[in-house]
Parts: sequence; structure tokens; C-alpha cells
Amino acid sequence: MKIEEADVLVIGSGGAGLRAAIEIHDSGVDVLVVGKCAKRDAHTILATGGINASLGNMDSQDSWQLHAADTIKDGGHINDTDAVLELCKNAPYAVRELEKWGTSFHKEKNGKISQRFFGAATYRRACFVGDVTGKAILNTLVDQAEKRKINFRSEVYIFSLLHANGKVNGALGLDIRNGKFVIFHAKKVILATGGHSRMFARSSSRFWENNGDGISLAYNLGARFMDMEMFQFHPTGMVYPSEAEGVLVTEAVRGEGGILTNTKGERFMDKYDKERMELSARDIVARAIYNEVQEGRGTTHGGVWLDISHKPKSYILKRLPKMYDQFKKFVGIDISKEKMEVAPTAHYSMGGIYTRQATGETSVPGLFAIGEVTSGVHGANRLGGNSLAEIVVFGRIIGKNVARQSKKDSFIPIDDNLIKKEVGKVIAITKQSGKNPIDLKKEIQKVMWKDCGVVREGKKMNQALSKIDRLRRYNLHTGNNLKMNEKLIAALDVRNMFPTCEMILRSALFRKESRGAHYRSDYPYTKREWKNNVVCLPENNKIKVSTRPVTPVPKYVSRHFKDKNPSHHLLE
Ligand SMILES: Cc1cc2nc3c(=O)[nH]c(=O)nc-3n(C[C@H](O)[C@H](O)[C@H](O)COP(=O)(O)OP(=O)(O)OC[C@H]3O[C@@H](n4cnc5c(N)ncnc54)[C@H](O)[C@@H]3O)c2cc1C
Repeated sequence: MKIEEADVLVIGSGGAGLRAAIEIHDSGVDVLVVGKCAKRDAHTILATGGINASLGNMDSQDSWQLHAADTIKDGGHINDTDAVLELCKNAPYAVRELEKWGTSFHKEKNGKISQRFFGAATYRRACFVGDVTGKAILNTLVDQAEKRKINFRSEVYIFSLLHANGKVNGALGLDIRNGKFVIFHAKKVILATGGHSRMFARSSSRFWENNGDGISLAYNLGARFMDMEMFQFHPTGMVYPSEAEGVLVTEAVRGEGGILTNTKGERFMDKYDKERMELSARDIVARAIYNEVQEGRGTTHGGVWLDISHKPKSYILKRLPKMYDQFKKFVGIDISKEKMEVAPTAHYSMGGIYTRQATGETSVPGLFAIGEVTSGVHGANRLGGNSLAEIVVFGRIIGKNVARQSKKDSFIPIDDNLIKKEVGKVIAITKQSGKNPIDLKKEIQKVMWKDCGVVREGKKMNQALSKIDRLRRYNLHTGNNLKMNEKLIAALDVRNMFPTCEMILRSALFRKESRGAHYRSDYPYTKREWKNNVVCLPENNKIKVSTRPVTPVPKYVSRHFKDKNPSHHLLE
């Protein structure tokens, strides 16, 4: 087997992984980035609307303290306070750096970066590149990585972390294209593997990503996790055809005047938020749509109608070009003439691996994490635009820290027996006969969507735990080919999904209240005594669930909690 060596191994080639790799390289440390997707095709490219930074270009009253207050308010007051302060203080620098490196942010006539409103933001704070902000940022980071000749391996699926003497010292990968196993040997390993929205049947990510790989890799080494129950459901995703199910229908449609109606023709948002109507908070609109469908006022595809056809076609083409093309391509309708069918879709993982944000350290020695795979900074709900800010801010800070630490370390020899064992497990999958893993993946996603989605209830979640446990017992049939075998990849995905789903369910059952994106019909109120984080720790094949107190918020931030937010709710 081929061995590739680097001081630091970064698993994940999205924005978080790349920004960290650049910083590690610039600190004089050898770094290697591995991604299971193609080089410029990480999930970060899906991000549309913008990146938050309190530049104050449009509203000079804005400040990083206000940004922090908005983040904590939206996060249901259980955010990691230190992480929020770091994020908001450093976001302006991160955006200016991206601009310097070539991201062509939209500019005002005075030459300053333009900024727009996002949901629950007090001022215009989101910097953007049309509706392709994530793609523009990722391309900038890839360009910078290439300029520095940073080593990069794409389409390699990491399926196991290596460890020796109690420390992580590498990873094992399967090269998807040639079916060969690869050993990565490193002093330090960073997980930047993104979120886990594909636990749910409807998701705004693509079907081959967001499978909880990083969660499972860390789980297998006994890492600590936080707030796994916190999952953001975006109110509007497409509902059909099946290949488009869950694809995001941007909040900008409602921002531009889109109206939601049920099959009785009623504009139902007046029952849920009379004042803000369609522009209410994301979780309120998602639950309203869910409720309409549950009570029999939904379409045959389980959605409601979203209508922007009262606006002129020229306006729609100018303001919502991506949406126009999306519905033309998938459904064959012209949204300037017909209504769109929409329903909530799983969008963002606020929970994940517990890290000390300023250092990226997980509870496992030698293992670090950044980006959507982590927890803490967004608390119980993510403010739109904060995720892109998070990946570049913490990519830089954590990259610097890991580089510094790796300089003091030496390589720990690889444990050959561990390699044999882990590779043997993958080969064993290819020798089984049983269920098609692609079908099993869909069954897991259906259980999670139905029993632990927008509205949750204890009895259903307990049933879901039993169902997941039953699904876990299936043998799988993948065929014994290691090369370009989509069933084998699905089998590895499924293996990663089980611990991820179990932790979501156990945490959601444990939190007996509703807060932020986590809504329980049997505990519909937010309770003061639950202003805590929920922690999961794998121990002896069981998951131990407990709470952790939240760090107090400094006065210079908390004094803004009572400020009244404007009712603008635009974009992701
Ligand atoms: C439709 C949509 C719109 C969005 N819009 C916005 C927005 O406007 N503003 C905003 O702030 N946020 C937005 N977000 C959220 C934001 O895009 C993500 O949170 C962010 O890009 C995550 O970056 P990341 O680097 O942590 O992970 P990702 O970009 O998901 O990258 C993860 C990387 O890990 C790799 N990987 C995963 N598992 C393995 C494995 N086993 N082996 C090897 N490699 C692996 C993947 O291939 C990928 O390269 C949006 C999200 C979606 C879905």
C-alpha cells in the first residue's frame, strides 16, 4: 500500500480545510489535503447568499459586538461564547483577506464591498458575489493553495483514522478512481469534513456528501460531541422530481415578495406570524409549512405553494436567475407564470464534534476539527452568512495553532495491525451478500426525516432508535470491486450514518424543551434550566449523554440582546 506523509493531514477540501491548509503552509509546515470530491467541487460551492462581517460599509452603526449579539440571540443563547467572539472579531479581516486574494465581492459605487441583509441581522452585514458566494470563495482558496503548491489528493474516501500511543497519527483512504488503499501518515490530523444534513430524506446538500463521515471517524476514537440535536431545517426546498428533492429554494424568493399558500388557497402564514408573514424566522416558517401539510392542506408531493408570479418576468430574471433556471430545469415550469411547490429541507448541522474553538482541539489527542463538522459557534440555530465566515476565520486561527503544535512533534510509527484490521473490515463488506446499501441509505434517511425532523416527539424518536438499530443489522451487498463502486461508497456512508443518527436521536430525546431549531411537540417551550449544551460521549459501545454549562456572555455583547431587530429576512 502506498504511504503518503505530511506533517499535517487535512481531511476535507471545502472552505474550512483549504483555509487551514494555506495557513499551515504559510507557517512553514508541510501539509496535505485530501477530499473525497473533485478539487473545486466541495459542498462549500453550494453556498449562495453571503458571508457575514461587520465592515459597516452600508450601516456604519454595525460592530462586531452587535454581530456577536445577533449570533447568540439566534443561537438560542447556548453558543460557545468564546467562539462567537473570535468569529465576529475576525470576520472583517477574513473578508478583506479574501478580497485581496481575488474574491470579486459585489462593490458599491464608492468602491467598498457591498453588504446585504440576512435573516435576524440587525444591520446589512452579508458580503456577497451574486448568488454564488461559496463558489467564488472556494475558487479563491483553491487558487491560493495551487499558488503555494500545496499537496492535494481528490476523490479519496477516508474511512478510518490511524492512532498509536494514544494519539492520532494518520488516516486510511480508498482511492475511489483506482480502488487502491492509501495510508496517510501525519503528526496531526484535522477533520474538515463538513456537515451531516444527508441523515435526512430531504436535504439541501447533494446526495453523495454530508454523510457524517467526520462524525463517525471521530466517534470511533471516542471523541466528545455537542448539541447533536441541533439541526437547521430550511423552510423551502424543492419537493420533486426525486433528483431535485430538498434542493434549496432561496429565502430571497420570499424576500422579493413570494407568497405561501396551502391547497385551499389560504395565505396561511397569518396564523403563525401575522406581523412578519412569509418573512418570519426560518424555524417558524418551516414549522408552519410542516403543520399545513400534516393537517391535510398540502400538495400531493407533501408541500405547499410559493408564488412569485405577480412580479414581472424581467424582475424575476434579474433578481432570482438561479431559481428561474432551477425550476425550468427540474420541473419544466416558468416561475414567472406558475407557482413553485416547496417544503422544508434539512440544511445545516449546528451540532458536531466538540472542540476548543480557538485551538480546534477535539477531546482526542492529535485530532483537530474545523467548519461544519464542529459544534458550538452557532448554538441552537445558525445565522445565515455565519458559516462561510466560520470556515475562513477558524481555518486561519486553527491552521496556525496546528502548525505551531506540529513543529514540536515527531512522527509516531504506524501500527500495521491496525491497518490490516481496518482494511480487512472494508474488504469484508465487499464479500457479503445482502441488502443494497443505496436502498438502506434511503431507509435511514426516511426514518430520520419522519421521526426526528422539523417537529419531534419523544415516542416517535424512541421508535426511530429501534428502527435504526434494526437497520444496522443488515448485511450489505456491494459486489467485490473496490474501484468506482458506488455501492461500496454507499456502504461506507451507511457505516458513518449509524453513530451520527444515534447521537442526533439520543440528544434530541435528552433535551426536554424546544429551543432554536429543535422543536418538540411534547415539550413546546424553551426552559431556563435547559440553557445548557448537550454532550454525547461514546463509552463501551454506548452513548453517554450529559449537559455542559454555557459560558457567560460579556456585558458589551449582552447589552445588545434587547435591541429590536428589523424584520428583514433575506437569503441563506
Ligand atoms: C444550498 C446551501 C446554501 C448555503 N448558503 C450559505 C450562505 O449563503 N452563507 C453561509 O455562510 N453558509 C451557507 N451555507 C452553508 C455552508 O455552505 C457550509 O456550512 C460550509 O460551506 C461548510 O464548509 P466546510 O468546509 O466545513 O465543509 P464542506 O464544504 O462540506 O467540505 C467538506 C469536505 O470534506 C470532504 N469529505 C467529507 N467526508 C470525507 C471523507 N470520508 N474522506 C475524504 N474527504 C471527505 C468533502 O469531500 C469536502 O471536500 C449553505 C449551504 C447550502 C447547502
